[in-house]
Amino acid sequence: MKSMPRRKSEVDLKYPVILLLSGLFLIGCSADITYYEIPIEFKNPQKKKELLTNYTKYLFGKKIFLDPGHGGEDRRNQGPKGLTIEADANLNVALALRDFLNEAGVQVIMSRSEDMTVDLKARSIMADSSGAELFISIHHNAPGKGGDEGINYTSTYYHALETDFEYEPCERDIAKYIQRDLSYAMRNSGGLGSFDGTYSDYMIYPGAGFSVLRLTKIPSVLVECGFFTNPHEERRLAIDEFNKIQAWGIFRGIARYYAAGIPQIKFLTAEDIFDKTEINLEFSISDSVQINAKSIQVYVDSISVNNYKFEALTNILSINLADLEEGEHIVRIIAANGNGNHSFPFNQKIIVKENTKNHF
Ligand SMILES: [Zn+2]
Repeated sequence: MKSMPRRKSEVDLKYPVILLLSGLFLIGCSADITYYEIPIEFKNPQKKKELLTNYTKYLFGKKIFLDPGHGGEDRRNQGPKGLTIEADANLNVALALRDFLNEAGVQVIMSRSEDMTVDLKARSIMADSSGAELFISIHHNAPGKGGDEGINYTSTYYHALETDFEYEPCERDIAKYIQRDLSYAMRNSGGLGSFDGTYSDYMIYPGAGFSVLRLTKIPSVLVECGFFTNPHEERRLAIDEFNKIQAWGIFRGIARYYAAGIPQIKFLTAEDIFDKTEINLEFSISDSVQINAKSIQVYVDSISVNNYKFEALTNILSINLADLEEGEHIVRIIAANGNGNHSFPFNQKIIVKENTKNHF
């Protein structure tokens, strides 16, 4: 027996007849109750407006890239009841998220805004050339072969492992904020594989991760909102209002991530060509939130170095490098603020020459 989607809030205590009928209805098909909660901001336009005004302060003028997974020729992922096709749920959530972001002054670029085929590599190339500063891929999950068919949770993926050089801590920060607010909006847990619902993509593909996260150069995360294979989740995912609630969760996560501040790093030294004997570099690390001096990490060509000094009053980071080989080098800096948010990927190219001063 198939039931119409029902919400708990539809049960009105003022009308016993309706209550009785609802009760009989629920007894009749209790296995098919589709339950979700409507955020207070959806019921109270004034509250939503206040929140949007506040978030706009942090989001206005940003550019974000949204990537609804699959679509077009790739529509094979679908729920057991045939109510939800993953590609469509991904797109619906992404479109609603675009609208919320637009309302807060964010420019949104999408890999697709309709049902069409987009190659995986093309998604990353589009994102990197779009001028966006953040890439968010939206998916829905299914268990691996032989996995638990009833399983359901919300998870957010970042690339690589904490101990890898290619790991960017800012991606974990973004993942945490999105995960917290999305899983709350859906009233899902974050699964048993992680304490906070964020996961390395190496958990799925060891050493490689998800192609869209590996290939995209701008900070990127991938959200697996819920399992379309779970009968309860599948029914909710087919409801437009629920997709909007999901999008609202992701939107709040993004907004609260930005509100916590992101350290900005700038190269202050006037030139990028240095004499081998004298490599003194200056950077500024600034944010509206105080920089955590202990969080600073400096790498030269993927090797960690510690001959640097950070002046908290001026926010100046001075790095002293000696005896670098002639040629091109990459200086990578990572810094976090007092809220734990890390800087975006920062890599400064420098060129080292032998005895530049003696060449006159
Ligand atoms: Zn997917």
